[in-house]
Amino acid sequence: MAEVLEKIYQNEEERKLILREYRKLLRTLPSSATGEDRDNVRRAFELAVQAHAQQRRKSGDPYILHPIEVARICAEEIGLGPTAIVAALLHDVVEDTDVTLDDIRKEFGERIARLVDGLTKLDHTYDSESPQAENFRKVLSFLVEDVRVVLIKIADRLHNMRTLGAMPRHKQLKIASETSYIYAPLAHRLGLYAIKSELEDLCLKVTEPEAYQDIARKLRETKEERNQYIKRFIEPIKRKLDETGLKYRILGRPKSISSIYNKIRTKRVSFEQIYDLFAVRIILDVPREREKAACWEVYSAVTDVYRPLPERLKDWVSNPKSNGYESLHTTVIGPDGKYVEVQIRTERMDEVAEKGFAAHWKYKGINATSSSVFEVWLDEVRELLENKDADAREFIHDFKTNLFTQEVYVTTPKGEVRVLPKGATALDFAFHIHTEVGYHCRAVKVNQRIVPLGYKLQNGDQVEVLTDQRQKPNADWLKLVVTGKARARIRRALNEERRRQGEMGREALQRKLANLKVDDFLQAVDTLVRYYGYASHLDLYYAIATEQVEINDLLADFELKDRKLVPRQQPADAEKAASSDQPAARVLPERRPSRAGLLIDGEPAEHYNYTFAACCNPVQGDDIFAFISRNGGLKIHRANCPNATHLMANYDYRIRRAEWVTTSNTEFVAELKITGIDDGPGVIERLSHELSSKLRVNIRSFSIEGREGYFEGTIKLLVSNVNQLNLAIRTLQHLDNVSSVVRVR
Ligand code: MN
Repeated sequence: MAEVLEKIYQNEEERKLILREYRKLLRTLPSSATGEDRDNVRRAFELAVQAHAQQRRKSGDPYILHPIEVARICAEEIGLGPTAIVAALLHDVVEDTDVTLDDIRKEFGERIARLVDGLTKLDHTYDSESPQAENFRKVLSFLVEDVRVVLIKIADRLHNMRTLGAMPRHKQLKIASETSYIYAPLAHRLGLYAIKSELEDLCLKVTEPEAYQDIARKLRETKEERNQYIKRFIEPIKRKLDETGLKYRILGRPKSISSIYNKIRTKRVSFEQIYDLFAVRIILDVPREREKAACWEVYSAVTDVYRPLPERLKDWVSNPKSNGYESLHTTVIGPDGKYVEVQIRTERMDEVAEKGFAAHWKYKGINATSSSVFEVWLDEVRELLENKDADAREFIHDFKTNLFTQEVYVTTPKGEVRVLPKGATALDFAFHIHTEVGYHCRAVKVNQRIVPLGYKLQNGDQVEVLTDQRQKPNADWLKLVVTGKARARIRRALNEERRRQGEMGREALQRKLANLKVDDFLQAVDTLVRYYGYASHLDLYYAIATEQVEINDLLADFELKDRKLVPRQQPADAEKAASSDQPAARVLPERRPSRAGLLIDGEPAEHYNYTFAACCNPVQGDDIFAFISRNGGLKIHRANCPNATHLMANYDYRIRRAEWVTTSNTEFVAELKITGIDDGPGVIERLSHELSSKLRVNIRSFSIEGREGYFEGTIKLLVSNVNQLNLAIRTLQHLDNVSSVVRVR
């Protein structure tokens, strides 16, 4: 082995590093691994070393370190076995080097070849031109075939996110948005809590570097104080638990940076105002059959010491979450009146919570139901995939709702517990029971009373569906459901109806084009669909059948060349082409005066038809990107715009790089929400004095509302760059009686 490395790497340090990492990987192999397993890992490593010999990562590191680390993550952090380790070592080999899939099949057999094949195909997802939604569909089709493909892919993504620093900024943003859009939720859905939190933190670090660093610093600064408190909190619990004779560990864990960030943002509080920066976890070492009783015994001990808040008790021991999570959570009032969350679980539950899917399989032999929670979910994903009618964007929407991990528990009239995603409606419940029940749902009773079909289910509701064979789905139903299953089913029923009607439109169009002697019917339909921006052939047929359009009008813009439809060259075309499915940024003929020192794809922005997006109002210095809108113009968004993740993940082919170049004297509008204590008249004067005379910032509008000694105001400022804006925010924050200043998105 050493000789192989010696030939490739002249640098001795690098050789040592690679060998050290490889040995670390070998140590992760379980003691149950056979000689053949070990041999396979060694041969996979050697093959990967040779295949990647010429490659380096963006950071300059030898490429081979990447597959080794991905394999180690698979083994240690996800708990996968030797087969996955071998596949992880080989995951980039076919993609990036001369080694073929056949080579791998010959060397390692069919099973590993299939995994590598899946990983190779998934690797085409980013950097490719196809819309992300299409790629996600691909990710999922591998998911149902062999979950390991997706687990290894998550490990790959995790390592790439951990080493993102060397990438150019726009690449970082793109990878981060894809990660937060699909991989973090997937990791969550597969029960990989630790990885999910880390991915979210890493994404935040890229998209909101300042907020991230700020929270990280504050966490460091308050660490000592927090540890003291945890110690004080734990002490009496320990004494109690020692009396019970249970074997346990107890620890205080800080919450993830992204969860703290989300709390600051959604609850509009400051870091200092968040009381639950950490949770206390008690992990028990008890045999399987004693688990439930032991958890409640600990609960009782904890609540003997501290008073619990009854509404915060969550019992996922009796009713595990659908991603397999089991734990008993309670919030108690600790010393100094602080609320503290206590999580009680066993070692097995803890492993399942951290490693998710793989750990489930490990324990499957003991209790078959523990893994069936995934099987139920995989069945649902399979069902979504079968629905070929849904276009890629609809599909991903359906799937995203399927990723919800918050749940609501309801019962059937017979008292069976059914678990649905939080936010699910009465109509969702009908489809959840059975597709036929959904199709013919006439009304739904909740706790014996008729409710609207869009009623949002609450925990503990008893739900009964009344059906009528004459009832059938209509388009409005799509607005009344949130689950992927119900949406897919309703859409399928509607599409069948449309197809039936569309058939007439297709026949009429076919007759007309045959009369005109057009050669290739389907190609001509393609041309029309693209030209007019229909989503599918069926949509065009349906529009014709329902007389929304006339065939003659459709053809008016076209002429016949070589028995093919060709758009006539008319000035009017430009308008229509722009609204077609092929987005194109139109270059304006005349130059406009520069509005800002802005470059789009490296070119001066005034070469383009662009505007600043109203949803996030970027100002000079903000991290930004350009998005080609449907009508052909470019919109400049902030990288942390709430719409950004969605746009980048779904339409990455419409994203253009945008950056500020020089400071110009252009001014931007920024909106601030400001709250504080209302100590009588003069608030506005004081604030505006601070802004205009001290900071020399222009105020465009100012509205303020006070009630019960408290005020809330909105200020629109004209600023020339983000530094000036941040200075204004900081200054306002430091004023007496001002409690929060937030930039509105
Ligand atoms: Mn990779």
